Amino acid sequence: MNRRFHWQTTLPIILTTMLSVWLVGFLLAERAYTLGVSQSIFRAEDLTTRLAADFPSTALDDPLALENWFHNLNYLSNWASYHLLDAEGSTVLKSSQNVNLPAPSGNEPEIVGAMQGNVLTDLRTSTSDDFETLFIAAPIQTGNEIIAILQGAFKLEEPRLLRSNLRWLSLIAALLAGLFSLFVTEWLLARLFIPIRTITLSAQEIAQTDKSGETGVYRDDLAQLTHAFNAMSHTLHNQIEALQTERSKLATVLQQMTDGVMSVGADGQVQMINQATATLFGFNENHALGRGLAEVVRDHRLVELWETCQKSGLEQSTYLEFRFPVRVLHCIAIPMQSIQPGQVLLLFQDLTRIRQLETVRRDFISNISHELRTPLASLKALAETLQDGALDDPPAARHFISRMETEVDALSQMVSELLELSRIESGKVPLQKNSVNPCELLAAAQERMSLQAERQHLEVTLNCADDLPPILADAPRIIQVIVNLLHNAIKFTPPGGKINLTAVRKDDFCVFSVSDTGVGIPAEELPRIFERFYKADRARSGGGTGLGLAISRHMVEAHEGQIWVESEEAKGSTFYFSIPIASSIDESG
Ligand code: ADP
Repeated sequence: MNRRFHWQTTLPIILTTMLSVWLVGFLLAERAYTLGVSQSIFRAEDLTTRLAADFPSTALDDPLALENWFHNLNYLSNWASYHLLDAEGSTVLKSSQNVNLPAPSGNEPEIVGAMQGNVLTDLRTSTSDDFETLFIAAPIQTGNEIIAILQGAFKLEEPRLLRSNLRWLSLIAALLAGLFSLFVTEWLLARLFIPIRTITLSAQEIAQTDKSGETGVYRDDLAQLTHAFNAMSHTLHNQIEALQTERSKLATVLQQMTDGVMSVGADGQVQMINQATATLFGFNENHALGRGLAEVVRDHRLVELWETCQKSGLEQSTYLEFRFPVRVLHCIAIPMQSIQPGQVLLLFQDLTRIRQLETVRRDFISNISHELRTPLASLKALAETLQDGALDDPPAARHFISRMETEVDALSQMVSELLELSRIESGKVPLQKNSVNPCELLAAAQERMSLQAERQHLEVTLNCADDLPPILADAPRIIQVIVNLLHNAIKFTPPGGKINLTAVRKDDFCVFSVSDTGVGIPAEELPRIFERFYKADRARSGGGTGLGLAISRHMVEAHEGQIWVESEEAKGSTFYFSIPIASSIDESG
């Protein structure tokens, strides 16, 4: 418990108790004094009037009688001193008791009263000893004549002493009451504050650890508070847990989303972003938090989109194209006024792939139309020539018909290659995988293309180690891949050139290569070489369909291998492809 608070609580209670007790004692002392004084007055009056009444009538003329009476008076009243005055107010006799009172002057109010036949009292401080003294005077009469006056002086010591004692007692009682109240207050505070402190500690623990906490206080007087506290703690804990669950669900959804999400505050600072946004813009997620939008995205179009949305309070959207790297984004800005004024949620959809696919599709249609148009146009021209009279010239007719046959062959080859490609792409070509010797595959392909190579005056060599492990492959398909590559090598290598076929083991793969000393492929065209209908140099590629490499790539990938090319213009190209060796598949399988 705080020391200051402790004294602020206990001190007023102690002081109030002390003051009350002392005040009661003080008032009691005053009351006792007043009563004492009244009693003294009563007694003094009674005694003095009795003494005055007992005054012997002859006493004034008989000194012995006077002496006796005065002696009696002294004896009777041992707490007072008396003066006997004559009717004029001059002192005749003086008792010896108590104090040495100065002789009255005769002008005192009680004496003046007595001279008029009254018994009067007067309370005043004695000039001799500074004590409060009760003066009383009674006339001594013979018949109606006042012959003398008896003045008594009574020291009010008893009431004074009583008052003083009571005052001291009240002071002591006040001190004792203060002490007692100190103990009681301490006990009460301890009784009250220990549970409160326990509850406070529990509350602090809950606040710091967000765990559900229960206080161990179960006293009857604090039971309600304790139960309320525990209930609140449980409710709070459940709510926090529910919130945290919701939050982590939201965070997981946000992080797993392929679309980018970013929340920007009214001050333009990034408040929340997900991983997709960070990847799209190429920055660190944590680095972006708390920074300005412009600094993070570094694109004025996005900042303008955010500003327009924030000012208008309406949803905005736009398509943005980036060059490095090439990227197309659909950006949507949604005002979040209902959650926090000025806050805007930015969504980013990456349309790059969709755009690419659209381009590929467009290119495919344009390519296929182009590839079909040429043989069809030739066929039409040849048919027209025949109709226009060439039929009458049998040798010419035969020549045209053989050319028509060539065009139809080219067309049907293209159609069958397209069909093959689409079947491979859709996974409809069943592969008959067997353990085969890679060298045999190379030799088979070489054999098949030997005539063509010879015609072109090209030397085809085969380098294949005998101890190569067998590969798991559909032999005719892989031979077709090698034939495709060899066919291209023959096509794009000028006469006198060399073509080399190899197969080597690399880790769990057998890597085949077909290298030539041909025209090579420009570096910028290499990435697209395996696309359908792609022809690196249309002028040189001649009668090809541009489908051979695409079919080869799909076939190799169907075997869980890879295909790639290295080429240098005017020096030659080397096409590589890898096929898993049979033993590695057996082991892993
Ligand atoms: P094509 O039927 O036209 O040969 P491909 O898909 O087999 O179709 O080849 C695509 C293109 O790749 C070819 O048109 C050619 O430009 C290029 N190409 C393929 N192989 C070679 C090579 N060995 N040397 C040079 N260019 C090649």
